[in-house]
Amino acid sequence: MRKPLPPFSDHQFQAGENARLKDAFEQWLQDNSAWFWPKGATYLYPQGLNFQLLADPNNSADGYDRFLSQFFRANVRPTDHYTLSVPNSALYRLKADASGFANLFLCGDWIDFGGNVGYIDGTIQSGQQAAQALRTKMNLGGHKEIWSALKA
Ligand SMILES: Cc1cc2nc3c(=O)[nH]c(=O)nc-3n(C[C@H](O)[C@H](O)[C@H](O)COP(=O)(O)OP(=O)(O)OC[C@H]3O[C@@H](n4cnc5c(N)ncnc54)[C@H](O)[C@@H]3O)c2cc1C
Repeated sequence: MRKPLPPFSDHQFQAGENARLKDAFEQWLQDNSAWFWPKGATYLYPQGLNFQLLADPNNSADGYDRFLSQFFRANVRPTDHYTLSVPNSALYRLKADASGFANLFLCGDWIDFGGNVGYIDGTIQSGQQAAQALRTKMNLGGHKEIWSALKA
């Protein structure tokens, strides 16, 4: 991605980065695809991919049109970015009940939920902790046994 990010008034930035992504992806496919799918290569691109094999809602006859029908989106917005788990970064994560606002609880794989790795289980744990923080705030007591009905 191009850095530094342009101001929000640059409404062409997303489209420009999408186009750059498309071009880079095309090059990457033609340089590397045969390593993954050796039977998908072509005579012209022995390391690449036969675009005729790509799914296309319009079922275009032309292979490049099939490539163009793929979904390309560059994650350029700051909120699209991944929160990494690099050493000594955990202290910058906030707990579910530590937003600093009385009526705002945090959840997501980016908070301090304990494991502090960006994965689905962490997302779920963070959601449970946010729910618990909300219950505590509302004097609703401890965790509700969400699986009890299934165990009975
Ligand atoms: C390429 C990739 C592969 C992955 N593979 C795995 C895997 O194999 N196993 C695994 O466990 N995890 C995997 N993960 C991680 C997993 O996807 C995330 O941990 C999980 O999706 C995080 O969930 P979340 O709800 O915290 O955030 P998100 O899923 O990112 O949801 C946040 C949502 O908030 C929206 N949003 C942002 N800003 C605003 C705003 N201002 N207003 C309204 N909405 C907003 C976003 O559009 C988004 O929909 C992978 C992640 C990536 C990127």
